[in-house]
Parts: sequence; structure tokens; C-alpha cells
Amino acid sequence: MKRVIVTGGAGFIGAHACKALRAAGFEPVVYDNLVYGHRSAVQWGPFEQGDILDEARLAAVFAQYQPVAVMHFAAFAYVGESVTDPEKYYRNNVEGTASLLRAMRQADVRQLIFSSSCATYGMAETIPILETQRQTPINPYGRTKLIGEQIARDYAQAYGFDCIALRYFNAAGSDAAGEIGEDHDPETHLIPLVLQAAAGMRPNITVFGDDYDTPDGTCIRDYLHVTDLADAHVAALQKLGLPGRFLALNLGTGAGTSVREIIDAAKRVTGCDIPVTMAARREGDPAALVADPSAAHAALGWAARYSDLDTILGTAWDWLQFKRQGTLKQDARLRA
Ligand code: UDP
Repeated sequence: MKRVIVTGGAGFIGAHACKALRAAGFEPVVYDNLVYGHRSAVQWGPFEQGDILDEARLAAVFAQYQPVAVMHFAAFAYVGESVTDPEKYYRNNVEGTASLLRAMRQADVRQLIFSSSCATYGMAETIPILETQRQTPINPYGRTKLIGEQIARDYAQAYGFDCIALRYFNAAGSDAAGEIGEDHDPETHLIPLVLQAAAGMRPNITVFGDDYDTPDGTCIRDYLHVTDLADAHVAALQKLGLPGRFLALNLGTGAGTSVREIIDAAKRVTGCDIPVTMAARREGDPAALVADPSAAHAALGWAARYSDLDTILGTAWDWLQFKRQGTLKQDARLRA
């Protein structure tokens, strides 16, 4: 079985990619430092605990598993924190990516799928966003992802790497079988927070700004089901094999949804009331970010299949229930 090293494979998107890899006949080898990842999310192949900054450890793992390719998810991804503590982001996301690419070159593994982000575009000039749009990120997180792309592009040109960078829009939802799901601590993303409010785990959902230049005044995003994202990674992996190529592709649905529309859909899907509190705009939030995914459709033969709001919210809601039941059972055991 062909092996793929999956850095950050114990995280939300990485774990879903591992499941998709296994289903496609690959063996995912998870390499994760477990700073934010969950050991319980590693279910489809071996686990190697390690940091992407640790080149000796990377070299040992490459030597042991002889992978055909790397999927590089490992990164810090809290935009707000990247503003207050950029050093943490440049060290892990930029130096970590550089360290990983050095280890790949040393091990002669030259095929890479790189997790990039729509945050590399910054304030979008036109919607929907094409890959050719200027990349002018507006926060350190976005800059680290852009630099990661640039390093990968230079490695492709100079050393014959083949890299496909996937620029994610808003990943959401959970594995429909309930084996894995979104589990961030702290949680900052809209959909899990809305569902926590629906479940009564938090008093309300705070809407950051209703004075944007959008139809209902709230921000518009392009929400993509994480299983669709995972499938796109496998499709991209299967296209690798062109030394010297660097290709960047948007992964989104092409459809935008406002914060208000998410809250209304969540009320419908959960059947619960969701108290809403209005607040000022969150710094650095563009009014609208919507992908033009036609390049990914053409290059990968891929399109979103699970990204309607009901499936995104329904699977995320089911996962929240599983997690709560698990916690309740654990609490009962502790009390017993
Ligand atoms: N948002 C909100 N309240 C929250 C969290 C997010 O109104 O508690 C808004 C946020 O301003 C943005 C959208 O929801 O317009 C999506 O935010 P999220 O953090 O999920 O993803 P981002 O687009 O920032 O990557």
C-alpha cells in the first residue's frame, strides 16, 4: 500500500483526509505533535508523534515509511492569535514548512499537497475569487500561508517538487459516520459556536457586525463540508507526478452564506432556539469571501457533494451530540 505522510493528521481537516486516503487505498502515516490534535482522531494508519520543526525526527519517519508523498496540514490557525503572537505563527507555519520541505528533499520525497487558505487573498477585490486574484493577506496567519506557498513554488522550480496548494475557504461539518469531527479548544468558528448555543452550552451566539455591505448586513462566507475538502485532497494526490509544477486551487462551493443565514438554518436543523447578541465587527473580517472553484473542478475532476447547509449543520450537530454523550458518560464514571 502506498504511504502518505500526513502532518497535522490528528487535527480536524487532516483526520478527515486520513479517512479519505484509506478509503482510496493509501496508508496515511500521521505525524503530529498533538499540541492541538487529538490522538483519538488517528484511526486509519500509524501514528508518529513529532514536531515539523524536528528535522531529525522527520528524517527517521521518512526513512521508516518510505512515503510517496506528503500532505502538510500541520499549522496554527487562529487568526486573532497570529496578530498578538506572530512569532508563534512564523515559527511553526513558516519555519516548520521550511523544515518539512528540507526533510522531504533529503529523503527524496518530492510530491506535496499543501494546506493553504483564502486568507492569503486578504480583502477580496472581486467575488467570486479566482486563483489569479492578487494575494495580499491582512494578518500574520494569511502571510504565513502565502510564504508557505512561495517556498513550495521555489522548491518545485529548483528541485523538481510537484506541489498542489489547496486554498480552503470555510471548512465545516463533520464525518457523516460520526468517527471524527471538529474539536477546537478554544473554539472560534461560527458554526460550532452557533450549535453550542443551540445546545444550551453557551448562552448565545455573538454576531460580529451587521453593518457590512451585504444583503442582510452580516458577513458572507463559502462553507465547504470537510468530507468534500478531504476528497479534494485525495483527488489532488492522485494527480501528482509532474516534477517542477506548482499549482494553487481554490476549494469552496462557489456559493456564499451570511452569518444570519447560518443561524436561521441552524435553528431549523436543530429545532432549537438560538439567542443572538449583536456586537461590533471583528477586526480583519472581510465582508465576503466566496471561491470560484472552477479550476479545482477542471484540474481534479472534483466538486462538492456534501456542502449544502443541511448536511453541514446536520453532521456537525450529530458530532456535537456524540461528544456531549461521551463527556456525560465520562462525568458519570468519575462520579461513580
Ligand atoms: N462570526 C460571528 N460570531 C462568532 C464567530 C464568527 O459572527 O462567534 C462570523 C465572523 O465574523 C465571520 C464568519 O462568522 O464573518 C465566519 O467566521 P469563522 O471564524 O467561522 O471563519 P473565518 O471566515 O473567520 O475563517
